[in-house]
Amino acid sequence: MGEFAYSKGLKRRILIVDDEEINREILGNMLQDHYVVSYAENGRQALEMLRDRTVRYSLILLDLLMPVMSGEEFLRLHKEEEQISGIPVIVMTSEKPAEVRSIKMGADDFITKPYDSPEVIKARCERIIQLYEDKSIIRSAEKDALTQLYTREFFYEYVRQADHYDETVYKDAIVLNVDHFHMINEMFGRDMGDEVLKKIANALEQIFGNGLYIGCRPDSDYFYLYVDHHESYEGVFNELSEELAKYSHMPKIRIRAGVYLNADKSISVDGRFDHAKLACDRIRGDYTRQVNFYSKELNDADLFHEKLIHGIDDAIANGEFIVYFQPKYGIAEETPVLCSAEALIRWKHPEYGMISPGEFIPLFENNGLIQKLDHFVWRRSAEQIREWKEKFGVTVPVSVNVSRVDIYDPELENRLGAIVEENGLTAADLMLEITESAYADDAKSLTEVVDHLRERGFKIEMDDFGTGYSSLNMLTTIKIDVLKIDMSFIRNMNRDEKSRRLVELIMDIARFMNVPAVAEGVEDETQLKMLKDMGCQIIQGYYFSKPVPPEEFERFISGK
Ligand code: C2E
Ligand code: CA
Ligand code: CA
Repeated sequence: MGEFAYSKGLKRRILIVDDEEINREILGNMLQDHYVVSYAENGRQALEMLRDRTVRYSLILLDLLMPVMSGEEFLRLHKEEEQISGIPVIVMTSEKPAEVRSIKMGADDFITKPYDSPEVIKARCERIIQLYEDKSIIRSAEKDALTQLYTREFFYEYVRQADHYDETVYKDAIVLNVDHFHMINEMFGRDMGDEVLKKIANALEQIFGNGLYIGCRPDSDYFYLYVDHHESYEGVFNELSEELAKYSHMPKIRIRAGVYLNADKSISVDGRFDHAKLACDRIRGDYTRQVNFYSKELNDADLFHEKLIHGIDDAIANGEFIVYFQPKYGIAEETPVLCSAEALIRWKHPEYGMISPGEFIPLFENNGLIQKLDHFVWRRSAEQIREWKEKFGVTVPVSVNVSRVDIYDPELENRLGAIVEENGLTAADLMLEITESAYADDAKSLTEVVDHLRERGFKIEMDDFGTGYSSLNMLTTIKIDVLKIDMSFIRNMNRDEKSRRLVELIMDIARFMNVPAVAEGVEDETQLKMLKDMGCQIIQGYYFSKPVPPEEFERFISGK
C-alpha cells in the first residue's frame, strides 16, 4: 500500500510538535524533501490542527516537555478522539524512562534527542507510516485478477489518499460501462468477454496513465477512474474507441461514460462515483451520446424520479392517479361513429401538478412498479365500462395498455378474467394493447400468452406497430385482432411521400393478417382523408379529441 502514494509522487504530511523552534527547524529540514511538514508549538495547538478535516496527517512527531499542553497530556487526548487516534505518533525524548512511559500511553515509536542521522529518522518515519497504511486496509485482494485494476475498497482508499496528499489539484471522477456486455458473453463466450475487459483496462492505462490515474473495476462491466482534471473528454473517448477498434477479432464495443468534473472532495468518495454513475446510467440506450456529465440538474431530475418511485403506493391510495379516455372512431361510414376508447393514465401530483405518463411510465417499467399501475388502470377501466353501460345502456369497449412485464406474470390471465367478471363484462369489452417491441424480448412467451388470452376471449391490439424490429417476423407467428399504426408514421404522412407509402404498406399488412387497422395520432382532416382512402377503419387522435376525464368523455357516448 505504501508503494502506491510514492509511485504516484504524492507526499504525505507530517506534524512536528515541539515548543523549541530550533528543534522544529532541524527536524523539518531533515524531512521536507520527502514530506509536507507542518508545525505546532504545543499539544493544544496540535490538537486544533489535527481536528481540521480538510488536511490529512500521516504522522505526528511529538515532544514530551512543552508548555500549555505537554506531550503526555496530548497522548491521552489523542487516544480518545476517534478521528485522530488513527494517526501514528513518534515521541521525541532524551530520557529512557519517558520512552517506556510514552509507549505505554500509546506512542508507536520514539526518537532520542539529540537526533540520530537524518537517514535513521527518515527510515523510522517511513516504517511507521507504512505500517499504519497497511493496517488501514484489511481486505485481502488489492487488485482484480483479470484487469489488474484495483478492487473497490482499495480504490476508495487510494482515492482518499490521493486527495489528501495532493489537495490542490482538481480531479474528475469517471464511470465507464460497456453497452450490452452480457450479449458479448452470450454470443462470443466468457473468454471473449474477459478479453474485452482486459483490453479496455489496458487502453485506459495507456490513455490516462501519464497523469494521476487510479482505476478500479467494482463489478462486471463497470470501470471507475479517478484522474487529473481534463478540460475536454471528446478526444479521450475517441481515442479509447479507436484503441479498441484495433482488435479486429473482437466484437464491436461501445462504451458509455459518466463524468463528474472537478469532483467535490467534501463529498464521500462513493458519493462522488455515484454522481458519475448516475450520469453514465442516464445515457443507457441513447445511442447519440457516448459521454454524459454530472450536473446539479441531473441530480435534481434523479431526486424527482426517486420521489415518484417512492410515492407510487401513496399516490394510488390517495387517488392521485386518474384514468383518462381517448375516443376511437370508426370512419367506414359517412359520419364517424364512436367505437371504443383507450385508457391513458395521468398523475395529479400534489407537489408537481399534472405529470404525463411519458415521464413516469418508463421509470416504473424499469423496476416492475408498472404492474401495480396497470392493474389499477385495468380495474378502473372495467368499472368505467360498467358505469357507462348502466348509465347509457351501451357498452363502450376500452383498450388498456399491457406492459411487457405483465406478459411474464403467470397470473395475468386470471387477473384480467377476474376484473372482467367482477364488473359483469365479457372479455372482449376490455381490449389489450401490447407494444410490438415486446415481441423482440421473447417472441415465444409473447406468442403463447397472446394465444391463451385470445382463447379466453380477449382482443389483442398490436400497439406502436412499425417501430419495433420484429414487425415482419411477427406476422407469421402471432395472431392478433387489431393492428395499431404508430403515430410517428401518421405525423409525417402528409409531409413526406415515404411515410405515406409506409402507412400504405402497413395497411396492406393489416389486410394480409385480416385484421382492422387503427391509426393513432391523427390530428387533421387531410390525414383522416388519406387514411380513409387507404382503407383504414378506425381513427384515434386529437382530430376527434385528446384523452379526457371520464365525465367529459360522456358527451361522446351521448353523441352531444
Ligand atoms: P401510447 O399507448 O402509444 O398512447 C398514445 C399516446 O399518444 C398518448 O400519450 C396519447 O395522449 C397520445 N396521442 C393521442 N392522440 C394524439 C394526437 O393526435 N397527437 C399527439 N401528439 N399525441 C396523441 P400519453 O397519454 O401521454 O401516453 C404516452 C404513453 O404512455 C402511451 O403511449 C403508453 O405507452 C403509456 N401509457 C399511458 N397510460 C398507460 C398505462 O395505463 N399503462 C401503461 N403500461 N402505459 C401507459
Ligand atoms: Ca397504447
Ligand atoms: Ca402507440
